Amino acid sequence: MEKVELGKTGIFVTPVGMGVLTIGRTQLDLPLATGAAIVRHALKQGINFLDTAELYETYPYIRAALDGTDMKPVIASKSQAKTYDKMKKSIEDMRLALDLDVIDIFLMHEVREAPDFESREGAWACLNEYKAKKIIKAIGLSTHYTDVAEMNAALPESDLLFALINKESLGIRTGKGFGTKEAMVAAIQRNADRGKGVFAMKAFGGGNLIGSYLECLDYVNGIPGINSIMVGISSNEDIDRLVEYAEGRLPRGYMPDLKEKKIRIDQWDCEGCGACREICPNKAIFRQSNGIMNVNHAQCLTCGYCAPVCPVRAIILY
Ligand code: SF4
Ligand code: SF4
Repeated sequence: MEKVELGKTGIFVTPVGMGVLTIGRTQLDLPLATGAAIVRHALKQGINFLDTAELYETYPYIRAALDGTDMKPVIASKSQAKTYDKMKKSIEDMRLALDLDVIDIFLMHEVREAPDFESREGAWACLNEYKAKKIIKAIGLSTHYTDVAEMNAALPESDLLFALINKESLGIRTGKGFGTKEAMVAAIQRNADRGKGVFAMKAFGGGNLIGSYLECLDYVNGIPGINSIMVGISSNEDIDRLVEYAEGRLPRGYMPDLKEKKIRIDQWDCEGCGACREICPNKAIFRQSNGIMNVNHAQCLTCGYCAPVCPVRAIILY
């Protein structure tokens, strides 16, 4: 796969990347060796771009995948820290966990609306300081919000935008309401015009659009300004198909096997608002004692009605 520069960062990545969240504790919770083998397979197939986060607790998989090899993928991580000290700890924890002197990419994780960014002023200052010291090469924001993506375009110190985009606008937000793919595409373009690197998340709407695999990737791939598409991966087969797509070798009739896919609620992201439980026609969603929702798979018909009403895209199919 031919690599492309992420904006003007001097960092070159493959047009598709592996989202490592899927194999970790909050989702499939694979054994360390199994998850590490999947990461290693991705790297061996030519993918050089990995996305993780402090929250995902997936650094051990990446460390184990790289142990004993000379592979040096571009690793993007992120933190929800709000203060200078907490961001410093997030950065140093990553350096220690992955034995890195220099981090390629570190982002503010899931920035929601401009006031949220302002409330993390100390954390942003810390990222800027680490970049000035050349311990982090590139910084920026990850977001589901079109208004935050627009704000990032106007943020001179930001090098990168990691934005949610898919062909059905699933999970795109604006302020307190739902956003559109058109508004996100416009914001992505604005970021690219200002020299920022852009990579995309949730091309399959958290798995809910996986039935139109090629159309989903084609849509995101066709948006000017996007340098790379990050895809949550759970198996070697996922990697092989994604690489075939990126290299133009995947047959146009390809249809992923949907039989084993299940609706799941991300236990980190769910805010317990109850909207999914209200809309579920099969009473398959229940509230746990900690206030967070979960799915009774015996009753779930994977109709997908619940995913679009979730304000934080905590409902995924995999
Ligand atoms: S709609 Fe989303 S945030 Fe609200 S309870 Fe359901 S999973 Fe949690
Ligand atoms: S996919 Fe359908 S049946 Fe399953 S939890 Fe969501 S709304 Fe309920």
